[in-house]
Amino acid sequence: MSRLMIIGCGGVASVAIQKCCQNSEVFDEIMIASRTVAKCDALKEKLVQNGLAADAGNPEAGQNDAKANTGNRAEQEIPGAVSCAARTRITTAQIDADDVDALTGLIRSYQPAAVLNVALPYQDLTIMDACLAAGVHYIDTANYEPEDTDDPAWRAIYEERCKRLGFSAYFDYSWQWAYQECFEKAGLTALLGTGFDPGVTSVYAAYAKKHYFDEIHTIDILDCNGGDHGYPFATNFNPEINLREVSAPGSYWEDGKWVEIPPMTIRREYDFAGVGKKDMYLLHHEEIEALAKNMPEVQRIRFFMTFGQSYLTHMKCLENVGMLSTTPINYNGQEIVPIQFLKALLPDPASLGPRTVGKTNIGCIFTGIKDGKERSLYIYNVCDHQECYREVGSQAISYTTGVPAMIGAMMVVTGQWQQPGVFTTDEFDPDPYMEALNRWGLPWVVDEHPVLVE
Ligand code: NDP
Repeated sequence: MSRLMIIGCGGVASVAIQKCCQNSEVFDEIMIASRTVAKCDALKEKLVQNGLAADAGNPEAGQNDAKANTGNRAEQEIPGAVSCAARTRITTAQIDADDVDALTGLIRSYQPAAVLNVALPYQDLTIMDACLAAGVHYIDTANYEPEDTDDPAWRAIYEERCKRLGFSAYFDYSWQWAYQECFEKAGLTALLGTGFDPGVTSVYAAYAKKHYFDEIHTIDILDCNGGDHGYPFATNFNPEINLREVSAPGSYWEDGKWVEIPPMTIRREYDFAGVGKKDMYLLHHEEIEALAKNMPEVQRIRFFMTFGQSYLTHMKCLENVGMLSTTPINYNGQEIVPIQFLKALLPDPASLGPRTVGKTNIGCIFTGIKDGKERSLYIYNVCDHQECYREVGSQAISYTTGVPAMIGAMMVVTGQWQQPGVFTTDEFDPDPYMEALNRWGLPWVVDEHPVLVE
């Protein structure tokens, strides 16, 4: 039984929190701590009303409904579904996770086994600092990037890194890998990037390596969203983070170095199981960096994401008029950041759940050698937006991130993935994680004869 502090209460957090409640055998107590505490209170209220959780201040609340709405697709297996006593007890708190001292104080007073960071990548370093100060394990779903990309101190390091490594994304692992020694000395685990991609995709790579290959030569990570929300333009997770990522130059790893290309200039068509034919584009993505470091024998690693023509046209137009800029401008005497203003105009990703229909298909195609023979393998998951909505009230993008966030936290707090230092998900035994994916709503398929991407 473990106590977990969850920071953030947006689209991904909402799923991770509900999954922790379904898994009350492991997570008997959670604290939801975020910038806007009203969102934490509203989610707690909903879960208590549905009998999925108990109010830590009033453990009896919602007890009569305890069997009503467990939501999980494998309901009979969920301890919380059959026992009122086993419901997860929830506390909420207001916190600005940029404030290390305040956060350290909150962690010390709640004394969780670990902190799950599902706020924004901007908070990764301050939350890691607070975890070190308070002596608890750390888990997140996305690697660090700064909110202010014009900060001269950050910019100098960034520009040196662009030249040295050859990719220009704002995010990279170096900031968090720099905590290796501190976490090691403190005897604490930091598990980085346990969403779907990164996260599950890297576990697939570790699983393929362990069970199917002597040597992996190429990895293609394919992220297909065949969902339709009916809006002319919306993003499926935090718009600021999402648009920064997809409007950046693409890059891939080949023969020990990065190859960078202008945005959206490598396109392929692929016929995805459960979805059909889609155009996909090569992007830079963070798991390429970790896989290239941890599996140096792999000769080429690429990441592709599907986009419709309408999405690309909207994005190009917004970019051309300066709406994707992260540099503040002065408007009528007030400083505004264009991309943050755009975020305020776009639909909240958390509101897309009821309107999104269709499926996602995310997975990895591997080629390499087993017992002297060439082979290929595709491991993927298909997830249905409406099934996710019925279970947790969210669309599949939040679901496919929130479930692995809970699983990563479970791996750490149960000790299955605990080792002092800073790690990505490809660095531990993949088997218990893969088993948990099947149990908690993201079953995977192994195709031993996939169509390869040229
Ligand atoms: P949202 O914008 O929906 O939610 C972010 C939450 O963090 C909000 O509740 C927000 O509070 C809170 N927050 C922001 N700043 C602070 C702060 N300083 N202190 C405390 N809380 C804060 O984002 P998503 O749920 O869409 O994404 C969450 C994370 O998941 C992101 O890091 C994203 O990159 C990652 N992600 C990872 C994926 C993967 O596959 N690995 C895929 C998709 C997302 P408020 O309500 O006040 O705004």
